Amino acid sequence: MNPYLVERLRPFGTTIFAEMSALAVSTGAINLGQGFPDTDGPEVVKQAAIDAIAAGFNQYPPGIGIPELRHAIRAHQQRFYGLDFDADTEVLVTAGATEAIAAALLSLCGPGDEVVTFEPYYDSYAACIAMAGAHRRVVTLHPPDYTFAVDELRAAITPRTRAILFNSPHNPTGKVFDADEVQLVADLARAHDLLVITDEVYEHLVFEKTHIPIATLPGMRDRTVTISSGGKTFSFTGWKIGWVCARPELVTAVKTAKQFLTYVNGGPFQYGIAVGLGLGDDYFAGLAADLRDKRDRLCAGLAAVGFDVYRPEGTYFVTAGIAPLGTAEGLEFCRALPHRCGVVAIPNVVFYDDVDAGRSLVRFACCKRAEVLDEACTRLKALRS
Ligand code: PMP
Ligand code: GLN
Repeated sequence: MNPYLVERLRPFGTTIFAEMSALAVSTGAINLGQGFPDTDGPEVVKQAAIDAIAAGFNQYPPGIGIPELRHAIRAHQQRFYGLDFDADTEVLVTAGATEAIAAALLSLCGPGDEVVTFEPYYDSYAACIAMAGAHRRVVTLHPPDYTFAVDELRAAITPRTRAILFNSPHNPTGKVFDADEVQLVADLARAHDLLVITDEVYEHLVFEKTHIPIATLPGMRDRTVTISSGGKTFSFTGWKIGWVCARPELVTAVKTAKQFLTYVNGGPFQYGIAVGLGLGDDYFAGLAADLRDKRDRLCAGLAAVGFDVYRPEGTYFVTAGIAPLGTAEGLEFCRALPHRCGVVAIPNVVFYDDVDAGRSLVRFACCKRAEVLDEACTRLKALRS
């Protein structure tokens, strides 16, 4: 134990993504762990950032983000979801969705408050809830369809609940919450007067269903903090341009925390993402279609190896059960996997409070070139011998 680390951060060591990406580098394994594509996004988006640097946009951008990007975010929410936000008072640009999540939790939730979220949950949720001094209450999603017990969700809400932290499309399961489920979350939020902080970074990576932003449901716009980012939508995960859309009081609250975290970031990249958000429908449809093929390829390859494959409805990720391969310990399995067959995966157990629920599940990223996915599946066949 690190004696210097404050108590509230003691449960959090190095993130699994850093650990597993370092393992991929040191072993030369194929990295199907951390979710990032192995090809660049659209050339016009890249060029817009290059042009912005060349044109001298290299000093601090405005605290709330450059107007071009805020207007592009406004237009995107209107175009895809019919949501109206004022680009000056209801949109805030952040250092990725990561900072938006942190700033939302730090500014809206405090000591004594509870935040309800589904597990498995993206790792930064637990850490940011802890940094806010708040307490998490989790409701488990159960494979194969990652459904949840409605009574458990109801029971998780107490008089101390301040917010529901809702992620759809969902990492790591790849679940896209359907209309009934989103409605249920919205109904509970309204009935208990809760805020909803919604993480929609995979909004365009949906294969069969339609993504339903919870802010579009009646009575939800004004109690929802909608968070997304350009990382996945434009295949530039290193750019870290995210955003928040919400009513002015909520945006102002989130901004109060955000301004003391990074203040601003990625000026030239903001120009790039502004161009990306204005791309035609064919771009967004093509992105999802391409990833759907990759999902199918990886699912088929993993099934041929002998994994229990839980086919995702969206996101970069395929979850697989390892029990048929003769082991139930996902963490051990993932730490050994690069040495056994030169592939890196993520153990889902790190995203659970109920470790038994996640113990035997591992996550593979499908956002890689077809030949890389094929090679990984060929290597994984060594597990059968
Ligand atoms: N939320 C989820 C569910 C994620 O998977 C990620 C990882 N990209 C993030 C937030 C963070 O997004 P960003 O890279 O924009 O900070
Ligand atoms: N969102 C990415 C994933 O789930 C990881 C981002 C990170 O490394 N924090 O793989």
